[in-house]
Amino acid sequence: MKFYNINNHNEIINFEKALKIGLGKNQGLFFPIFIPKINLKNINKILDMDFINRSSYIISLFIKNEISLENLTKNISKAFNFPLKLINITNNISCLELFHGPTLSFKDFGVRFMSQMLHYFNKQEKIIILTATSGDTGAAVAHAFYNIDNIEVIILYPKNKISVLQEKLFCTLGKNIKTISIEGDFDDCQKLVKQSFEDMTLRKNFILNSANSINISRLIAQICYYFEVFAQILPDNRNNVIISVPSGNFGNLTAGLIAKSMGLPIKKFIAATNSNDTVPRYLKNGIWDPQKTIATLSNSMDVSCPNNWPRIIELFQINNWNLNQLFSQSTSDYLTEQSILKLYNKYKYITEPHSAIAYHALESKITNKKEFGIFLGTAHPAKFQKYINEVLNITINVPKKLTYYIKKENLSYNFPNNFSYFKSFLINNYI
Ligand SMILES: *Cc1c(COP(=O)(O)O)cnc(C)c1O
Repeated sequence: MKFYNINNHNEIINFEKALKIGLGKNQGLFFPIFIPKINLKNINKILDMDFINRSSYIISLFIKNEISLENLTKNISKAFNFPLKLINITNNISCLELFHGPTLSFKDFGVRFMSQMLHYFNKQEKIIILTATSGDTGAAVAHAFYNIDNIEVIILYPKNKISVLQEKLFCTLGKNIKTISIEGDFDDCQKLVKQSFEDMTLRKNFILNSANSINISRLIAQICYYFEVFAQILPDNRNNVIISVPSGNFGNLTAGLIAKSMGLPIKKFIAATNSNDTVPRYLKNGIWDPQKTIATLSNSMDVSCPNNWPRIIELFQINNWNLNQLFSQSTSDYLTEQSILKLYNKYKYITEPHSAIAYHALESKITNKKEFGIFLGTAHPAKFQKYINEVLNITINVPKKLTYYIKKENLSYNFPNNFSYFKSFLINNYI
């Protein structure tokens, strides 16, 4: 399959290239030239397969001309080497827990698939992955690319603005993973990354890749777990599924909408945001009016210009869907906390702010008993242990994979917020 640039339909490239360059001309996102369809009979057939084989099949529909099903399956079993759990909360609400991977967020799915693919398609060149993070992406990227030949990773993050736990998870690895705390905020880190991508000297000498959620490979990987929802629920419920997706850059929701477009009979989606509510406001009044980003409890969703939104518009146009079919809701910090409390006090379910926002939006949109609601659990509550312990007045278990890193030494460099300083570091270390 080929992929086109949605800002410039003449730019059509294969998967390998889209994987490596990430973004096309005029900052355009890549999109499959057609969405492969699976009819209902075949969907029921693949729902009987195990997660790895089913996922390999689904992904092969997009990239089988560039990688054999056999090789794909091998890579996918390495990438998706952790469980997904569907937890029943009530008779008709469940949480799909996507956070049992090495860095305890759903980002492990997309980033681990991307790293396997970059490794597979790259045999000689040295690739530098340069990423700015406010937490989860950095951890997922560091672990997914750790020890992978010919790939160097540099992660920038704002000094003292992420939790110690988050920092330990990705700043203690060493080898091909370098981490740098910047005297500034997340936007400053993002700017240093952007400047590097635009710098001619650096571009001449390196293959730079940012591994962020605009990379089409990450979205293709995320399609797979929407099928897993249907595999894990009773056939009786399959016609009435509503899925609530906690959204920041809207990559996760894009993947879900692609799954629906392939034929998976998801009845409705809910785009659940925090107070950064550009999309819910747009869906209400048709005006795209991003405001200044607000810091919230669900910090990984503190995005006011969601970078995957153009792909969602593209999908609605291709399918002749009406945007008013997409539900959306923004949830304040206060109601996020109330939802965390409710899930614990009423159902003994421990959750964290991002997933709680999806639950809150879902609860208010389920209108009859026949509907079957799923909210996506995108992060493990242990990642927010201090906050959760305080709110619920409990001591939650921290998984071993987290406690292991807490004891290790932080290997980060600390740099001023200065591009020429950063640039000389790159030149001295990697040329
Ligand atoms: C990144 C992230 C999100 C938002 O996902 P998008 O694909 O950017 O919409 C939600 N929850 C958690 C925990 C995340 O890390």
